[in-house]
Amino acid sequence: MMNIDRSKLTPMMRQYFEIKENYMDYILFYRLGDFYEMFFDDAVRASRELEITLTARNCGLEEKAPLCGVPYHAVDGYIKKLVDKGIKIAICEQTEDPALAKGLVKREVVRIITPGTITDPEMLDEGNYNYVASLTKLENTYAIAYCDITTGVMKTTELHDPEKLIDEIIKIEPSEIVISDKHTLAPDMIKTIEAQGITLTPFMDHAFQPHAGKRIIERVLNVFSIESLGFADDSAILCASGALLAYVEETAKVPLNHFNKIDIYNHSRFMVLDKFTRRNLELVETMRTKDKKGSLLWVLDKTCTAMGARRLKAWVEEPLIDIEAIHKRLNTVEVLVDDLLLRSDLRTHLKQIYDLERLTSKLVYGSINPRDLVALKQSISVLPDIKGCIDTLEEGDFQTINEDIDSLKDIYQLIDESVVEEPPYSVKDGGVIKTDFHPEIANLRDAIANGKGWILDIESKERERTGIKTLKIGFNKVFGYYIEISKGSSKNAPEEYIRKQTLANAERYITPELKQLEETVLGAEEKIVRLEQELFAQLKQNIMVHVDRIQTTARAIASLDALLSFAECSYRYGFVKPKVNNKDTIQIKNGRHPVIERIFNETPFVPNDTLLDQKAHKFYIITGPNMAGKSTYLRQVALITLIAQIGCFVPADKAEIGVVDRIFTRVGASDDLSQGQSTFMVEMNELANILNNATSKSLIILDEIGRGTSTYDGLSIAWSVVEYLSQGSGIHAKTMFATHYHELTELEGKIDGVCNFRIAVKESRDDIIFLRKIERGGANQSFGIQVAKLAGVPEPVIERAKHILSKLEVNDINNNIQNLQGLEMEDGKAQPQTDGKVKYGDYSVSEGLYHYLSKLEVEQMTPIEAMNALYNIISQFKEK
Ligand code: ADP
Repeated sequence: MMNIDRSKLTPMMRQYFEIKENYMDYILFYRLGDFYEMFFDDAVRASRELEITLTARNCGLEEKAPLCGVPYHAVDGYIKKLVDKGIKIAICEQTEDPALAKGLVKREVVRIITPGTITDPEMLDEGNYNYVASLTKLENTYAIAYCDITTGVMKTTELHDPEKLIDEIIKIEPSEIVISDKHTLAPDMIKTIEAQGITLTPFMDHAFQPHAGKRIIERVLNVFSIESLGFADDSAILCASGALLAYVEETAKVPLNHFNKIDIYNHSRFMVLDKFTRRNLELVETMRTKDKKGSLLWVLDKTCTAMGARRLKAWVEEPLIDIEAIHKRLNTVEVLVDDLLLRSDLRTHLKQIYDLERLTSKLVYGSINPRDLVALKQSISVLPDIKGCIDTLEEGDFQTINEDIDSLKDIYQLIDESVVEEPPYSVKDGGVIKTDFHPEIANLRDAIANGKGWILDIESKERERTGIKTLKIGFNKVFGYYIEISKGSSKNAPEEYIRKQTLANAERYITPELKQLEETVLGAEEKIVRLEQELFAQLKQNIMVHVDRIQTTARAIASLDALLSFAECSYRYGFVKPKVNNKDTIQIKNGRHPVIERIFNETPFVPNDTLLDQKAHKFYIITGPNMAGKSTYLRQVALITLIAQIGCFVPADKAEIGVVDRIFTRVGASDDLSQGQSTFMVEMNELANILNNATSKSLIILDEIGRGTSTYDGLSIAWSVVEYLSQGSGIHAKTMFATHYHELTELEGKIDGVCNFRIAVKESRDDIIFLRKIERGGANQSFGIQVAKLAGVPEPVIERAKHILSKLEVNDINNNIQNLQGLEMEDGKAQPQTDGKVKYGDYSVSEGLYHYLSKLEVEQMTPIEAMNALYNIISQFKEK
């Protein structure tokens, strides 16, 4: 669209193109009277995304320009719709009064809206941070910086491993990532990021340079040197943070006073959770409906403030691994659990606190209104009470929180002395500033309230003085107030009356006294609005100076609220304080699934024990019929571990948790709802991720993996995974593996640390009753048919299925398992015997078979080849 002959364009379209040139990646909203118009490609795209009509307009060229438009008063809704889709918008306004413009009205882009830089509270979700991030690579180091521009929260970290970087990005869940326009990142990485639905915004490379970073960070954070913040010269985090601030400043077009801290964190301070695990464990939303209800967050969130809710969510997504930090939170929670009164007092106070973080940002972005200031004042009013509740407490995080909460008395006073208790939303409506705050306000209010009365006073005074009974005071737009006397009496009008108008039967006059009063009365409304605006602006300015203190307080309140929420839910649901240490044991007595026990509370939840360690109980193989409760049990162990590491009490009677560095979960393809064509491929990808990244400190939860393929394939994969994780030089991660391959139970006693567990069921003839209790041992049948019966499958189908099963069982893979095992366990230990046979493991085999066996390269075979080979072996073996 840029290859057109501009000389032919109409002047307005030429202006449009000049502006658009600088905003090629944006949809340009071009203000034209009461509409924002979009042209050419922008119009085509916007009309499609917004489902509005596409028309055309003459633009000077032969072909008309595609055009669509939205009315200015409804623009917010359209903007939100586009931004939600990851589209960036530039708003171009008329910047001079059309009435005064000579020729074409001047226009400029005054606002840019991108997914990560929205400041309008209407467009934001109160319970979530909306992060914009910047990403850069310096030699072998990646750095990511991210911030929430309405609250001023900003963090940065560096990593070396691209996969971990992607995990980190998924954890942060930014809506937009800014990268250098010089393309310093690998195309693969760009693709992966885009696949997450994150908007990528190229930004000038210059902003990513260390010297630029140093300058902007020192200026925005108002520090003498970046070293005081912990940044090293030339570090990747410096570049990422600098570029982020530059981008935000340019987009937001306001000073970033509320950015007062950049948290440089070591991502290894937190437990790593990949996206599958986050999804499988349903940490903040459910897998199916994406609702908060039914997620772990739903159970844990008893916060009283929006800030606390955001903090809690961030914590749930970022479990700690630092024992000290975990103990601090747990000790704080313990005090709160034990003290009902303290808890209820704090909750009462916290409930009166508005979203301080977002109020502060409104202050910074200039959109704060009088009601917001009253909300700020009310919030501040409870701070001394909160401090009073906790200032003698020394345990856990209390001291830090108490120190960070500032009672902000001066700010309270600034608002209290000047703003009325129930002001209107807009200063323009007047009535915001207290009457006794400023003498002029009092005078003007007096004039407005009493003006009418004063005029009537003059009327009766003049009537009396002149003795003219028909004298009255009137008002019109041309002269304002006037004295009217009927024609008959006009000769008696006093000399000082100034005649203004003669009517058929009356004369109209003015007097200096009347005019002066008029000025007071009529001007008062206008003056007071102007004065109130000035005083309000001054007040905002006076508070703005203290933005730092409000932000620090807001953050401390957020932490307190989140900890209180942990305590509240621990108390309500009978959670206990876990013992968290650096040992390698996870031991849980009567553990429960925190969410399931809340959802199905008519039938009591059956608690279960767990003991995982690095020795005899390293690898659980859990068998049992479908619906017995295997998945629930696995997730319960993962969740209890995670809950302990976010510093909350856990749903159990007793728990000792050796901190884990990562939790991996993988749910088999057929349990997975993603409808990809190759769910098996997806499953194997994820399995590869686990096997490549797990450490001996990790906790791995595998639920029915290998099910998306044939039985032989699936069993073989599952089998070798068990070996890889637990045998010899394997990973030795604590692992729980639910499977319907009963064959795997053979591994107990053969591989160290493998233990069989099953979920108890009671059989009564054809029926089964789920007891939900985990016990040692393997299940020997799958009860699939009984479960089908429970689910209401018709009787004839059940009967027929039983019949088919009885036939099939004859050929069950179990019959071959011994052979398979011999093959695997004793490979390479063949010993020739005298009878022309060779001893292979516990078996004597012919030399021919021995050669056949020793030539097999299992790793190189396709599943079909492997099956054929197995078939050959078995048939030869049976012959001999
Ligand atoms: P599986 O993975 O063995 O197929 P699930 O773990 O999905 O079984 O459990 C099936 C259902 O059984 C769950 O949705 C839950 O309602 C119930 N359930 C599981 N474990 C328990 C338990 N310990 N106590 C009570 N109900 C349970």
